Order: sequence, then C-alpha cells, then structure tokens
Amino acid sequence: MNREDFPLLWEGVYLDSGATSQKPLQVIERIDRYYRNENANVHRGVYELSAKATVLYEEARERVARFIGAVRDEIIFTRGTTESINMTAFSFAEPLMQPGDEILISHMEHHANIVPWQLLCERTGAVLKVIPIDRNGNLDRPALSALLTGRTRLLALTHISNVLGTVNPVKEIIAEAHEKGIPVLIDGAQAVGRTKVDVNDLDADFYAFSGHKMYGPTGIGILYGKKKHLEKMRPYQSGGDMILRVTFEKTTWNEIPHKFEAGTPNIAGTIGLAEAVRYLERIGMDEVEAAEDEVMSYALEKLGRIEGLEIIGSPDRRSGAITFTLGDAHPHDIAHELARKNIAVRAGHHCAQPLMNFYKVPAATRMSLGLYNGKEDIDKLADALPEIREKFK
Ligand code: PLP
Repeated sequence: MNREDFPLLWEGVYLDSGATSQKPLQVIERIDRYYRNENANVHRGVYELSAKATVLYEEARERVARFIGAVRDEIIFTRGTTESINMTAFSFAEPLMQPGDEILISHMEHHANIVPWQLLCERTGAVLKVIPIDRNGNLDRPALSALLTGRTRLLALTHISNVLGTVNPVKEIIAEAHEKGIPVLIDGAQAVGRTKVDVNDLDADFYAFSGHKMYGPTGIGILYGKKKHLEKMRPYQSGGDMILRVTFEKTTWNEIPHKFEAGTPNIAGTIGLAEAVRYLERIGMDEVEAAEDEVMSYALEKLGRIEGLEIIGSPDRRSGAITFTLGDAHPHDIAHELARKNIAVRAGHHCAQPLMNFYKVPAATRMSLGLYNGKEDIDKLADALPEIREKFK
C-alpha cells in the first residue's frame, strides 16, 4: 500500500517501523518548502514571513488536536514521547508526591516509561509499582485492579507494546482507574499512526507520542493533557515564549500550551508532522489499521511455520510488532544476515530490558510494520530465515 510515496523504500524491505517510520514524499517536500519559502521564527516578528510561520505552527497544533480528538490548548509540542513523559513526571506528578505514594506502570513498558518514574521516586520518596503480565503478554487484570490503591497518584501505561505488539484495552483501564480517582498517562508511541486514537473517547488524562513513528519527522513529539491538569502544572523548561511578563523580582507564565514550550520550537518539525497527519487522514485510519491487520495475520502464520522460530508472547490483540528468537542464532547475527539481503529488522533488548528478563531472553529480533509493508515483504523475510537458522546451528 502506498509504497510509491516513500522514496527510501524503492529498494529493500523495511521492517523496522517500530523504531521509526519512513517518510512519505508529501512530508519531505513540505519541510523542504517551509525552509525554502516560509522560514522565520514564530510568535515574534510582525513582518509577513514571521506571521505566516506562526500561522503554520499553530495550524499544525490544530490539525494534531483534531486528529486525536483534542482541542488546540491541550496539545504541547515536545521532542518526542520521551520528553512528553518526562514533562508529565516533572510538571504534573512530582508536586503531588509524598513519600510512600505510588506510581503504577506495567511490566511491558519501554524504558521511556520506566526511568522517568524511577528518577521521580528517587527525588520524592515515592514507590514504583509494576503491573505483572502473563506469558502471552497480556496485562494481569486482577493484579492491576489490586494495584490501583489509595496511594496511587498516577497510572502510566503503554497503549501498544513495542516488543510484544500487545494492544492494551486502555479505555477500560482508564475508566477503572478513574473510578478510584487515579489519573492516567498513556504512552502512545506505537499507537498513533497504527490505530485511530481519540483521547476524548479514551478519557486519558495525558497521552504521549512521537512524530517520527507516524510518518512525520524526528525531533517533534506531542504531549496531550487535559486542560484542567495543564492549567495547574508548573513549567518544565523556562526561557523565552513561555512567559507572560518578566521582571527581576517576579515572572509570570504564559497561558497553556505556550507555558510548556520554552524557546524557539521545532517549527519545521510541526509543519512536517501536520503533513504526516494529513497523509494519514487521506488514507483513513480505519484503512491503515485494516491493511496492517491483514499483513500482521499473514506474518504470524508464515513465521509461525518456520522451524525453530519462537514468537515472544501471544497477546489477545496484537499490532505493529512480532519479536522472535530463531534456534541458536544470535539476534544480531540474524539482523546482520537479513541486512545483507536488504531486509531491515531490529535486534537487541528493544529498550524494554525488564520485559526481556521476564521472558528470559537477553536479546531478540523484531520485525515491525508500517503502512507500506505488504505480504511480499513478509515472504522475503520468511524465505531468508531458515537458511540463517542453519548457518548458525
Ligand atoms: N514508548 C514506546 C512504546 C516506544 O516504542 C518508544 C520508542 O521506541 C518510546 C516510548 C520512545 O519514543 P521516542 O524515542 O520517540 O521518544
């Protein structure tokens, strides 16, 4: 699907979209056009070019907001999911924490949704609690319910696991947390761009994601936050643009979302991101999801038939990724051999070491899908693997 829009895919098989997606020409050309014809700093100049850049920047915010069912003031531009989560930890959670309070995450989190909470616990005396998972890679729901306690100040959970592909039933879980008055941050790095996300329907308090995993540029990310939270939160970084008035005695903050966007933002990044959103909207998220589901089912069946290949986890609903081991072959050898055949996959711990420890595999190979992958890509991968298994017996 849509392969011809992606110049870097004209050769080779790209099965590493979980790490970053390739970019369609529409996005590449839009960024090029911005730098050639429209470049100026935002929110500052009165001349036409600067006014235009400001309009484009704010239009990008509106477009992203609409795409995920939010309103513009609730969209903060960051560098990526990692920064969005760090911002939530520092600006939202930290002032709430008393020693002994709890932050709840799950066993399938990416390091980006583990380490910021560990540092927060170190600073505040709070305790990090972890929802266990079962061997299939589903959350242990009774354990989750029991871990939502009067001490829980925030639940931070991934929407889709970057290793197992587990799609967590986040809407149900958010409702359960809210019944106990617990706010929820969703790590949507692997979800936006694969499935329709409506933060309003989910009722998420915070939703973090990255432009580069949804066919947009690197260096631009989003933190969605409910207005009622953002208005109360302290700034994350400080400097120009995030202020209302500065004197040496006292400085007051700009209104949201600008309070959280110190300094010159990644203007080109937001404009490229808006173009990626437009690209996805043109195809339609239902279509994007259905097409990927079809390739994913095919891949599960095809890889499942390869002797010696063990797929890690078998979640109730899977999207995006299949991570596997293959006989005695080391994942790095597998990735190297595949690279020689122009097939790009990822090997290692996938920034989820606790999850890999749970499955007792220090490293594994992951193939992950994007909207340009078809069954023929899976065929090429599946054809290459038996030979690699034999080579490293
Ligand atoms: N969370 C998940 C589930 C991810 O897969 C990733 C990236 O791989 C991240 C967070 C971090 O995203 P970024 O590196 O764009 O900040």
